[in-house]
Amino acid sequence: MTSNRSTVDVAIVGLGAMGALSAWRLAARGAKVIAFERYRPGHDRGSSHGDTRIFRTAYFESPDYVPLVQRAHVLWRQLEEESGADLLTLTGGLAIGPRDGELVSGVLASAQQNELPHRMLDASEMSQAYPQHRLDHGDVAVFENEAGFLRPERAVSAAAARAEALGARLMTETQVTSIEASRSGVVVLTSRGRFEAEQALITAGAWTSKLARHLHLPLNVERQVMGWLAVTDPARFAPQQFPVFIRETEHGRFRYGFPTTDGRTIKLGVHHEGGETDPDSIDREIHDADVKPVRDFARDNLLGVTGDMVDARVCMYTNTPDERFIVARDASVPGVTILSACSGHGFKFAPVMGELITGALLDDRAVPAIIHSA
Ligand SMILES: Cc1cc2nc3c(=O)[nH]c(=O)nc-3n(C[C@H](O)[C@H](O)[C@H](O)COP(=O)(O)OP(=O)(O)OC[C@H]3O[C@@H](n4cnc5c(N)ncnc54)[C@H](O)[C@@H]3O)c2cc1C
Repeated sequence: MTSNRSTVDVAIVGLGAMGALSAWRLAARGAKVIAFERYRPGHDRGSSHGDTRIFRTAYFESPDYVPLVQRAHVLWRQLEEESGADLLTLTGGLAIGPRDGELVSGVLASAQQNELPHRMLDASEMSQAYPQHRLDHGDVAVFENEAGFLRPERAVSAAAARAEALGARLMTETQVTSIEASRSGVVVLTSRGRFEAEQALITAGAWTSKLARHLHLPLNVERQVMGWLAVTDPARFAPQQFPVFIRETEHGRFRYGFPTTDGRTIKLGVHHEGGETDPDSIDREIHDADVKPVRDFARDNLLGVTGDMVDARVCMYTNTPDERFIVARDASVPGVTILSACSGHGFKFAPVMGELITGALLDDRAVPAIIHSA
């Protein structure tokens, strides 16, 4: 084992969405960064793969997220400009469900409180504007303008590359085994030797609890499956015709979907309802029971989507009890900060979380109240 003494400010563990976007913001502030990733940025073993992630602003979970999404929007555009990569496509977004359901009432509250452009559509207006959706009796939809989709693999790779261009050192295919306190900060033990830094940031997604077991963070890893179903008339499912959507099918149960990005299929998913899993032994095979809910949803609620499942992939949510981010300091190893994943809705926030973490690590700034800090 070699020892790599250095004057690194921050060592980042995990270059997925949170780690790569944090590396970019930290490096942009002039911090000396080293980042460790067990695989390579943009890989498909964690939580940041599968071609698309929903971006939405009228946040049904709480209006307090809205300023964070709005700042993230600016930063996504900045990353696009710096990297030349196409990362965010605005299509508008539809929230569909009962008028008094969690989704529609939450979107409306968020939109009204933050004065976001939106419009309500009843079943007959929906059949005119978006005939791809079949609405149940009593269902309504809210259309919001500031929604669309992000490209996760591309975004993580672009952020990592920008961080590197700004001076960060990226150690890919390098597994971190532990982080210990040292006299001048922390020592990161990896499959490629020991590295010293003033501080460490753990952004290990589903593996976070494994690296910080002693903190007993309330994180629960959930297996999730995304499915790609063939459509009969791809032009009707193009991004300009078919906005991203979330639909509350029963109280508190959500399905979501995207326009086509391959001219052949649309991606659909079930929010939650997966089993608890371990990221090292997760079942990555696709079973009939995995794809049935998506097929059933398409059959009952969409027109022009076939039952032909062209592709399906396994991914992981890392859930916190109330689905908010957790930023935690490790009292037993001063200098270590943990930034959790965010219960299946965190991707869109990655650049703003990177910015907030940069403020917390470099300036000791507090994070907003919608984020748990411990
Ligand atoms: C199916 C699905 C759909 C989703 N849909 C949406 C959506 O529509 N909109 C939205 O905003 N969000 C969505 N999310 C949530 C979002 O994708 C996640 O919150 C986000 O990707 C989590 O990023 P992360 O950086 O925490 O984890 P990851 O991207 O998994 O990154 C963690 C990284 O740490 C590395 N690592 C772990 N342990 C070590 C170690 N010991 N040494 C070195 N490296 C290590 C891993 O290899 C990995 O690259 C969805 C998630 C899933 C699974």
